[in-house]
Amino acid sequence: MATELLYLDDFDVLTNSATVTAVTTADDGRVDLMLDRTCFYPRGGGQDWDIGTIRAGDAAFTVDEVRLDEHGVVHHLGPGGGVGEAALDAGISVGAGVVLEVDADRRAVNTRLHSAGHIVDLAVERLALPWVPGKGAHYPHMSFVEYSGEVPGDVEEIRQRIENEVAKVIGEGSRNEIRFMPVAEMGEYCRHVPDNIPTNKPARIVLYNETFGVPCGGTHVRDVTDVGRLSIPKIKSKKGVTKVSYAVEGVS
Ligand SMILES: [Zn+2]
Repeated sequence: MATELLYLDDFDVLTNSATVTAVTTADDGRVDLMLDRTCFYPRGGGQDWDIGTIRAGDAAFTVDEVRLDEHGVVHHLGPGGGVGEAALDAGISVGAGVVLEVDADRRAVNTRLHSAGHIVDLAVERLALPWVPGKGAHYPHMSFVEYSGEVPGDVEEIRQRIENEVAKVIGEGSRNEIRFMPVAEMGEYCRHVPDNIPTNKPARIVLYNETFGVPCGGTHVRDVTDVGRLSIPKIKSKKGVTKVSYAVEGVS
């Protein structure tokens, strides 16, 4: 049965109670814990997974990786062997009630990096650059968004214009709201709807300032000012694809 994904409804939920639905050993020997619901973000959409702790009474299970499978089940992976066994022996077993705690610092970094990618998208749209958004990566060591399309003119000038525009977007602040809807309706709110939207979780858009919609399953800052200083160190075009690298001060 699919895991209920609590982070989809609320970007800020970092703890919840849940029931263990299955415990198995992963191929690499780690313990794989499945729950009826979770606030842990599994890696996806270019955003890294959460880490944290799952507790039942005094027993604590360390989560060091989170994956969403094709059936919509979230796998909370943590150390096997003695450590994992001890947690399981102490009460983290099928049917047990547990409390989840996401590592807030790591989530905040991932959320800021992910949101920064959308700010670049918004700047690109406001500058009317002739680009169609493609994939992105929002990791501390590697943050970029890709577009199909060439750089229309001088690369350094375009880089500077995007950097200025993202600063403006951040300076203005924002509101956003979450809306769930069939993929077929997303075109009403989003200028670009990719044709590879995952089908193993509820389809969602995040709507910025009632005007700029993005199909997205990640976690976002409440207000774009929370991202902080965002720079564009590099733009590179190759074979019709333009890669805009970005950096968030203090985390990249
Ligand atoms: Zn996103």
